[in-house]
Amino acid sequence: MSNFDSAALARQAVAARKLAYAPYSRFLVGAALMAEDGSVYLGGNIENAAYSVCNCAERTALFKAVSEGARRFAAIAVAGGAEGTPEDALPFCTPCGVCRQALYEFGGDELPVVLAYGDGQHKMMKLSELLPLGFGPKDLA
Ligand SMILES: [Zn+2]
Repeated sequence: MSNFDSAALARQAVAARKLAYAPYSRFLVGAALMAEDGSVYLGGNIENAAYSVCNCAERTALFKAVSEGARRFAAIAVAGGAEGTPEDALPFCTPCGVCRQALYEFGGDELPVVLAYGDGQHKMMKLSELLPLGFGPKDLA
């Protein structure tokens, strides 16, 4: 795994929950995606009255980064919980399947995924643990 400060990235994901636009679910998610050059892209979930076009925090951060030229990433941190949940009481929140696939395109099996929860705690997993046998660019080569 890459060398980065997982606790700091987890804190950035928690703070990124403030960027969420989630008037329907009132479940605020934040993501902090670190590119290989150390740049960090933040994202919140973005909901819509037409529910099917909602976008998760992870993909918000990913699409921001990719649209600005980043292609490889050191890690992503994610934090989520119902609106009003104190930061020190956030539940364990994992990326949805769509986000796991989107991240796989640019991070592959080894991308560290930092799951922030509770009082400054986090669990670090590899993307391959969340998306075993992922389908990616290698499969089309
Ligand atoms: Zn998602």
